[in-house]
Amino acid sequence: MIKVSDVVIIGGGIVGISIAYHLAKKGCSNVVVLEKEPLIGTGSTSKGAGGIRQQFSAEINIRLSMESVKIFERFADEMGCKDVFYQNGYLFLLSTEEEVASFKKNVVLQKGLGLKVDILSPDEVRSMISFINTDDLLGATFCGTDGYADIDGVIQGFAREAKRLGVDIYLQTEVEGIEVERGRVSSVKTRRGDIETHTVVNAAGPYSAIIGKMAGIDLPIKPFRRQIFVTEPMSFIPDSMPMVIDFHTKFYCRKESGGLLMGGGEKKEPSSFDTNVDWDSLEILVEKGIHRIPTIKEAKIKKGWAGLYSITPDFNPILGRVPQVEGFICAIGFSGHGFMHSPIVGKLISELIIDGEASTIDISPLSINRFKDKNKIIPEQNVI
Ligand SMILES: Cc1cc2nc3c(=O)[nH]c(=O)nc-3n(C[C@H](O)[C@H](O)[C@H](O)COP(=O)(O)OP(=O)(O)OC[C@H]3O[C@@H](n4cnc5c(N)ncnc54)[C@H](O)[C@@H]3O)c2cc1C
Repeated sequence: MIKVSDVVIIGGGIVGISIAYHLAKKGCSNVVVLEKEPLIGTGSTSKGAGGIRQQFSAEINIRLSMESVKIFERFADEMGCKDVFYQNGYLFLLSTEEEVASFKKNVVLQKGLGLKVDILSPDEVRSMISFINTDDLLGATFCGTDGYADIDGVIQGFAREAKRLGVDIYLQTEVEGIEVERGRVSSVKTRRGDIETHTVVNAAGPYSAIIGKMAGIDLPIKPFRRQIFVTEPMSFIPDSMPMVIDFHTKFYCRKESGGLLMGGGEKKEPSSFDTNVDWDSLEILVEKGIHRIPTIKEAKIKKGWAGLYSITPDFNPILGRVPQVEGFICAIGFSGHGFMHSPIVGKLISELIIDGEASTIDISPLSINRFKDKNKIIPEQNVI
């Protein structure tokens, strides 16, 4: 294994691999990714729904998504692979006056940033997707440039190009410690030996607070279980079906392998690293699903899985340097939005490391320092 590296990235999930790719693309190829598992992308990355949306309430999240969508749109050309992005849109269904008022406010902000998003009536929802029960709906919002992507295609595309540009990805290489000398990162300790470096990127997803502790840093990130279930194929679902979010119950679904991929609306649970499927929660989910799409009653469940969200106190990620330890950079706490934000996060962290600051978007609102001053916190409201 290499003994010295310019940048050591801890975590071979979608975030770590995107950062590696963007660093190498920008000319910094002495980069190492350390992943404890035998394959990349087997953590939270492989458990997601692949959803990509720009409809957020916080300006910073809208900006992150709009820049990521640009990268997803040119991904196939840039990586020389087949298209991985299904731009079918996201349809948010709204059932109360409060939801309508808050989404109307969001739409003003989103349009002001240049996003094309429409407010729909229940009739317009029905003419878009005939099998949705609109009886108790007051309205909806739709953005046609949202959608979802093939998660494996995206991470493999970034990894292939990163390796071609000189990045080393070490699998089965668990990080066990971080040496800090006179307030500055000096090396990373792994089961397979140490690597000297002055720059470490924490991209360890739900495990990122443990990595923080290795350098003596407290990171306000907690893991929470989230689940997805997929039905057997059902003939009535068109290929063009958007991601549908029933905002009131948080039930969401989209087409997957001819059936429906369904998630959200689960019961509240304490923070844990548990990734066993809780089959009891399927009943709660299906009940919410049947209310919105009555034909789900006929569906047979094909499979289900559980993964972890990494949640921060304001549901926004922590990006950038930490003041306590020089050379320690965070790309963590995505609170359920890490796949959609991974392309731009890779670019921003590469700018931070190579140019000294992120220029495509000002990431200062996502600094860990925001938690010291309550006035600087703008929680994301559109969390599923
Ligand atoms: C059910 C569910 C649905 C979701 N749906 C969506 C969605 O629709 N859209 C979206 O954008 N996001 C979604 N997400 C969230 C998304 O999956 C995550 O935000 C994203 O995958 C985070 O990527 P990551 O690289 O930060 O973390 P991970 O993929 O978890 O990668 C971190 C990696 O670090 C490795 N690691 C940890 N500790 C160490 C160590 N000590 N040494 C070496 N390696 C280590 C882990 O093995 C892991 O591979 C969903 C998540 C879940 C669970």
